[in-house]
Amino acid sequence: MEKHKAFDIEFMRLNDDEHELSFDIDDAFFEAFPQNRIHGGNLKSVVTLRKEDALLQLQFDTEGSINTTCDRCLNSISYPIESFETLIVNLGTDYKEQDVDVIEIPATAHKLNVAQYIYEYILTAMPMFVNCDDLENVVCDEQTLKYIVPLPGNEADDKSDPRWNALKNIDLDE
Ligand SMILES: [Zn+2]
Repeated sequence: MEKHKAFDIEFMRLNDDEHELSFDIDDAFFEAFPQNRIHGGNLKSVVTLRKEDALLQLQFDTEGSINTTCDRCLNSISYPIESFETLIVNLGTDYKEQDVDVIEIPATAHKLNVAQYIYEYILTAMPMFVNCDDLENVVCDEQTLKYIVPLPGNEADDKSDPRWNALKNIDLDE
């Protein structure tokens, strides 16, 4: 991916040893990914790379914050992210996924672009449901909440659905 050229690791130029590489992640980084949960961010990923013969072991230590939307009140919020992931890269003959976190790439590829991996690690570090209450000093916008219409059907169905009434009779304190 040309846009993420800065995320190329030219492993052929590295000797068999441990190397530390650092990548800055900004708003432009996220523009290349076709989904809209993350609108931008400011993070740093420090990669500790150990190279040994035909094997690369990469540890990604990613920290910072992303710009996203509260799933409850739709406010824009800055959400803290902390992620620690490992990727094993076998230098072989082909591009393939060998296992979770284990890939093979051709030794002749000379370089590995890690943008996609970093992006996925950030996504993985995000909870399924993000909301203002997870943050310090931020609360949901009550004004906006008033205007958010419940999804069609939810409320009406709840009232008439016998299963819902049955649930209401369950004493949760038992
Ligand atoms: Zn909110």
